[in-house]
Amino acid sequence: MNKRRKTRQVKVGEVAIGSSHPVSVQSMTNTDTADIASTVAQIRELEKAGCQIVRVAVPDTAAAESIDKIKKAISIPLCADIHFDWRLALECVKRGADKIRINPGNIGDKNKVKEVALACKDKGIPIRIGVNSGSLKALKKNPSPKWSPYKWASIMAKEAMEQAEILDEFNFKDIIVSLKADDIERTILANEIFASKTDIPLHLGVTEAGTFVSGVVKSSIGIGTLLSKGIGDTIRVSLTENPSVQVRTAFEILKALKLAQYGPDIVSCPTCGRCQTDVSKAVHEIEERIYSEPSLRNKARGLKIAVMGCVVNGPGEAREADFGICGGKGKGVWIEKGKQIKVLGEKEWSNEIIRKIRNK
Ligand code: SF4
Repeated sequence: MNKRRKTRQVKVGEVAIGSSHPVSVQSMTNTDTADIASTVAQIRELEKAGCQIVRVAVPDTAAAESIDKIKKAISIPLCADIHFDWRLALECVKRGADKIRINPGNIGDKNKVKEVALACKDKGIPIRIGVNSGSLKALKKNPSPKWSPYKWASIMAKEAMEQAEILDEFNFKDIIVSLKADDIERTILANEIFASKTDIPLHLGVTEAGTFVSGVVKSSIGIGTLLSKGIGDTIRVSLTENPSVQVRTAFEILKALKLAQYGPDIVSCPTCGRCQTDVSKAVHEIEERIYSEPSLRNKARGLKIAVMGCVVNGPGEAREADFGICGGKGKGVWIEKGKQIKVLGEKEWSNEIIRKIRNK
């Protein structure tokens, strides 16, 4: 792991973003923002999953006019995502958004961008500039480009820099930038190029990463590679899945890189023909119970739990764990910090683990 890249600090509500602060996790709702009850319910689910900043789409006035009501009902900072219409951005600032996501380039007239920048400055809230590979200005002139990934990434970085410079002209410095493509190579290159030229903090993500398996793989490699190089200050995993799953995935990436603690480290075997217990059912039940209860998830932070199917590799892995089970026929040996304590029927495994975590 490289040392984190040094950046300026930007605050989104109470969440500080930048090199000396932990990498934060954000997500986005997929409800109609003007449907306040549904949006608030989804944000509360995201909060439960540990989400630290939430973004809502603001496509129209009804959505913009919901911002203050949503904000009152939630406890994490709220980012309003606006395209094209600067008046929506002004309305969201007025109604207490903690951050605005716009592309100055698609707002058009510089005076409109200035108005948004000055309103944000007045309230002390930052702006995220989001540059996506599919909506580059350069594509207007060249809609079917034959650019190499490096050239494509260089154009993304250049356009992001131009947009940051527009805000800079109005002495607006509270900027976060994201450079996202739907493939890993351009995403990594664009962020590396941009990071080498500025101290603006970076929001990482692989856009439209896909459904669960392909999306988790792309996001883990794309975001993980950049983070391991010290690049990235806040992350969002995009999956065509429930937003809470995106939050869990984001934390798992940070946990794997030792950049955050989030619940326990659960080790389980893939099972094979030697297995005589239902390891899969047991481990999924244990995981579901821990992750659906934030206080339990927090208590389990840093613990290693092993659920192994038999005595071939089981005792070795279980010995390394705080709590471990080594399966036999419909039962298993319960091991604590390397010591075999007792034998438990498989139906008791999850209860025993939850009890141990609660009493920790
Ligand atoms: S621990 Fe046992 S059951 Fe699990 S994969 Fe290894 S050999 Fe198979």
